[in-house]
Amino acid sequence: MKSRSMKQEKTPSGTWVNNPASYAGYSSCADDDCFNDIHDTDQEIISGLSDAVYNMLEGIGENPDREGLVKTPERVARSLRFLTKGYRQDPEEMLKKAVFSESYDEMVLVKDIELFSMCEHHMLPFFGKAHVAYIPDGKIVGISKLARVVEVYARRLQVQERLTQQIRDVIQSVLSPRGVGVVIEAKHMCMVMRGVEKQNSTTTTSAMSGEFLSSQSTRSEFLRLINR
Ligand SMILES: [Zn+2]
Repeated sequence: MKSRSMKQEKTPSGTWVNNPASYAGYSSCADDDCFNDIHDTDQEIISGLSDAVYNMLEGIGENPDREGLVKTPERVARSLRFLTKGYRQDPEEMLKKAVFSESYDEMVLVKDIELFSMCEHHMLPFFGKAHVAYIPDGKIVGISKLARVVEVYARRLQVQERLTQQIRDVIQSVLSPRGVGVVIEAKHMCMVMRGVEKQNSTTTTSAMSGEFLSSQSTRSEFLRLINR
């Protein structure tokens, strides 16, 4: 993850911000377009969600009608729809469209795929990296589609274990390769924000099939490649 300058500066409104380089930056998170999914046109769902967020604001003891929060319910509604748009996408269909016949039969590995998801227990983010590998058996898939598959499943409410398996299973089912290996390393905000001792913990999950399970040397090669 790229680190931004952490030098702080006070804005005219008195808020401390981490990114003095962009002065508009202090309000950039209030940019109404930042989470807008142009394909998401269901106004009824957005307004239902907005009402729920309005109630949440009251529930935490806020005044949802004060100036700074007036547009927050709709912003949160739109951001939630954006962050869960994977429910409205079909990873299997997406992969099928990018399958080619090819005799290449060595391991294909895409590592360090950036991943942002939300845990289904707290609806808080977890994020990290996915490494996805397979050994073709006559069929390969466009490399970028492997990253897209990760994204589609990640943009749903998840547990990291299931996310890892879903990625393996869809690749196994569409390509019928000799094996699939998936490893995800992620930090969960529901643990990090709880504080102290859990702040730096990373959770690693793996899901494998075929030769990644049956062949010690295949599995070792995969793990060696992702760890360097
Ligand atoms: Zn959680």
